[in-house]
Amino acid sequence: MAAKENIILTGFSGTGKSAVGALAARTLGWEFVDTDAEIVKRAGKSVTKIFAQEGEVVFRRMEGEEVRRACGGTRRVIATGGGALMDEGNREVCFGSGLVVGLEASPETIYKRLSAQGGGRNPEERPMLASREPLKRIRELKAQRQPYYSMAHWTVSTDYLTEAQAAAEVARAWQTVGGRMMGGASSDSEVAAVVTHSTGSYPIVVGWGLLERLGERLLGIGIKGPVYIISDSNVFPLYGRQAQRSLQKAGIVAHAFVIPAGEENKSLAMAQNIYEWLASRRAERRHAILAVGGGVVGDLAGFVASTYLRGMPFVQVPTSMAAMVDASIGGKVAVNMPQAKNLVGAFYQPQMVLADPQALTTLGKRELAEGWCEAIKHGFILDAGLVDVFEEHAEALMALERDISTQVIRRSMAIKAQIVSEDERETLGRRILLNYGHTMGHALEATTSYGKYLHGEGVSVGMMGAARISHRMGMIGDDVINRQERLLRRFNLPTKVEAVDSEGLFKAMALDKKTEGGAIRWVLLEGVGRAVSRRDVPGEVVEEVVRGLGR
Ligand code: NAD
Repeated sequence: MAAKENIILTGFSGTGKSAVGALAARTLGWEFVDTDAEIVKRAGKSVTKIFAQEGEVVFRRMEGEEVRRACGGTRRVIATGGGALMDEGNREVCFGSGLVVGLEASPETIYKRLSAQGGGRNPEERPMLASREPLKRIRELKAQRQPYYSMAHWTVSTDYLTEAQAAAEVARAWQTVGGRMMGGASSDSEVAAVVTHSTGSYPIVVGWGLLERLGERLLGIGIKGPVYIISDSNVFPLYGRQAQRSLQKAGIVAHAFVIPAGEENKSLAMAQNIYEWLASRRAERRHAILAVGGGVVGDLAGFVASTYLRGMPFVQVPTSMAAMVDASIGGKVAVNMPQAKNLVGAFYQPQMVLADPQALTTLGKRELAEGWCEAIKHGFILDAGLVDVFEEHAEALMALERDISTQVIRRSMAIKAQIVSEDERETLGRRILLNYGHTMGHALEATTSYGKYLHGEGVSVGMMGAARISHRMGMIGDDVINRQERLLRRFNLPTKVEAVDSEGLFKAMALDKKTEGGAIRWVLLEGVGRAVSRRDVPGEVVEEVVRGLGR
């Protein structure tokens, strides 16, 4: 069957799906289909009347039929109702027929837009405006649905865009990743995102229990072996062997090299040990390297893959939360030197990133929380909806409940994928946004000799510092600071330090890689889900905030 080329728009009422969808269709020269409008046409009455006379169950059945009909065609931009993706059958159809793009807006924007329109189109959404606390109702209903909107391959934040600008962003999403997904990835509901880069693209595949099917997945992207698995002494017995078995079941010859766990092994000496092992195994350029482990294994194996025989195919199977939502995506590979971490490295893109959140069940609670910190950071810099989901489901996420955790990891990986696709080599000012909380966080790690704080814990304190700087710069109110602090605390992440070594911190920040011409490039917030980079933060502001980190 020929691959379908469709864009399916999802999102809450008031995010502009119909208007933006129609404009995007015009830009692309495609047909526009609005499933709610089709239901009205076919039923000969308004959605309100269908709800009142026949009930929601009948409406949902009609909606399912319309979604199927719309997705049956090709070269269509399809606007779906705000509740359509809640249904598993609809999700399967939508994700199986094209690029799913989520339109986002803050509850405040939604309230403003819906009030201006005289209410949402769907009767179930009307009571939101009629209620005594409409904003609260919007926030609640949106938070319930957010995990499903968050499954989108690509998200466009519409708060500060006109409809035409949002439509241009939707068309750009298609040009960036849509066409490349048509190689089959789009009909695959486990593909969370596709990263595009200067020489190609690769899928991010996420699924609970997916490790069992790793072998099939490798065959699916043309890797037939032999494969050289690189893992560490903690992860290999848990998942490395399982990976090896899955490969052997698929008929792929798989050898394994196990390094001792620990950051100190992300070294040139360990890379040399692996080179020698590869040479002894007569590894060839058409064979592949598979990293199964946390960020240490991913960075080291990627570095080896980028250099051995001038580059071998490489696949990332991240097993720590930090590696899933951060280190495995974006192609930065490196080893540490005595002088500095990650001093020698390259940009080298994998062929695929495959994440099985089930693997996280053996991760320590502290390591899990520090990994969630990077995902929470993604929300604060780019996706206010994701922050809502974290607030709504904090306990379930800490307990690693299967469905919600898989969805949030998916979304977080898609955000990183989107940013690195837009700015592969950190030259366009987009990728730096991922550095939110890192300037102070890195400095805190360095001044405590990398012993006291895990990376994500340093970032958590650094996020509080960056939020306070944003506040002092007049960019946000203290409500944003308090919201971030409450959420980080719910994940048992530190938001202050016991004893502040201010001088040490200043020195370490000045050495940070993100310093240019003496001025630190700060990533600050203009609101929840809206980060910017600034070089004009006065030294006294930083000093005041750093000295206040203990309070
Ligand atoms: P890590 O690889 O050292 O893993 C942390 C610990 O958890 C290790 O002891 C590991 O053996 C263990 N572990 C991993 N998965 C497990 C599982 N499922 N069950 C039980 N134990 C498990 O460290 P990390 O936090 O994953 O990553 C940190 C590294 O990543 C650093 O070297 C950092 O520089 C790098 N990093 C790279 C990037 C990038 O863009 N390349 C981004 C962020 C961080």
